[in-house]
Amino acid sequence: MQLPGGILVNATLRRDFTFREFTGGLELMLNRQASPELNHVERVTQVLCNALASIGGQQVSEELVSGLSVGDRQFLMRQLAVHMDDRPVWLTAVCHHCAEKFDVSFLQSELPVKPAGKGYPSRDVIVSLGKVTVSVPTGNDQLAVSGITDNQKALRTLIARLVKIKGRRPGLKPENLTAKDIEKIESASEAMSPEIATEVLAVCPHCEAQNRLTATPYSCFEKSPDTLFSEVHAIAMHYHWREQDILDLPRARRQKYLQLIDRSRGMAAHSHVKQEDHNGRFF
Ligand SMILES: [Zn+2]
Repeated sequence: MQLPGGILVNATLRRDFTFREFTGGLELMLNRQASPELNHVERVTQVLCNALASIGGQQVSEELVSGLSVGDRQFLMRQLAVHMDDRPVWLTAVCHHCAEKFDVSFLQSELPVKPAGKGYPSRDVIVSLGKVTVSVPTGNDQLAVSGITDNQKALRTLIARLVKIKGRRPGLKPENLTAKDIEKIESASEAMSPEIATEVLAVCPHCEAQNRLTATPYSCFEKSPDTLFSEVHAIAMHYHWREQDILDLPRARRQKYLQLIDRSRGMAAHSHVKQEDHNGRFF
């Protein structure tokens, strides 16, 4: 599996990445309550920094993850969800046409991905001010506009970040871009940007109308940590290990210990029954 966009390493586009082993600590981090001070963009960066081992052969850092294109970041969040649990996702939809309810299921691993377009991650575009270089938006750009509530201002700020204007003549500033220029820049950036599907199409079984349903790339953030807590509780009760040590276990090892605990409980129950038989009476 490769990134739909990728990063430039010594002027070569690299699309490879590797995840670390998933631990309970990472699962806990996915819960919003674990770091309420972070906004959505910062949470994605924090989770990806902890979940990834490398991108394009580079050791993962906050700088590297923040500099990934938005499409790559969404792709990685969905891949994380797939790695953790690729069972079908069930949605209940209300048909926009007949208002009947129906259930839809899909696998996150089967949702389509649009790879980056020609020129990615930046290419030249001619606008009224001359030639400018347009880039795809990254996590850094998302963060820069995340606090701006006025949509027009947010768009202007984003565009100013995505264009590099060549030359030093006076007036060559992002503020002087016309509405048509901005449109051109937006569409060039969109055409280059990798994308993942954030909607699924579903046909209503009652009236056969086609419905669009939202499929979030961030389903990892919606999981309740209750199962994790009860698993940590079961292991701590049995082995008397520290919470942090249990959270540091790779997920597969944690599951293995839970199986062993279950088995030894089964054996204890079994030997109890045997003892009853041997004595021939209940006690
Ligand atoms: Zn319908």
